Amino acid sequence: MNGLTPEQASELRDDLAVLLQELDELLDISEDVARPIELEQPIGRLSRMDAMQQREMAMANRAAHQRRRGLVEEALEAFDDGSYGLCITCERPIPFARLKALPEAPTCLPCQEKRE
Ligand SMILES: [Zn+2]
Repeated sequence: MNGLTPEQASELRDDLAVLLQELDELLDISEDVARPIELEQPIGRLSRMDAMQQREMAMANRAAHQRRRGLVEEALEAFDDGSYGLCITCERPIPFARLKALPEAPTCLPCQEKRE
């Protein structure tokens, strides 16, 4: 039992579905940015340095989106096997407020803080 009402659970499941879609869109957009900068490519008013820095940032963002997408997918799978809303570390229910802010959270806040 994760302590969620059926209404809360379905709300969170919807949140996760929306999140998955948003992350897919972001990953779609950032696909181009992650390509290497070609030396012959005209890059307009940006210097090559700027372009490289921007690419690095875009790639870091992209990596963060990919990690988050992985967590969202795991959370959706947890819904199917009934383990959603339970901390993967201490197995206690994760409070609804935390899940509402971060529906893909696999751990409760105290466990998350211990990990960091
Ligand atoms: Zn915990």
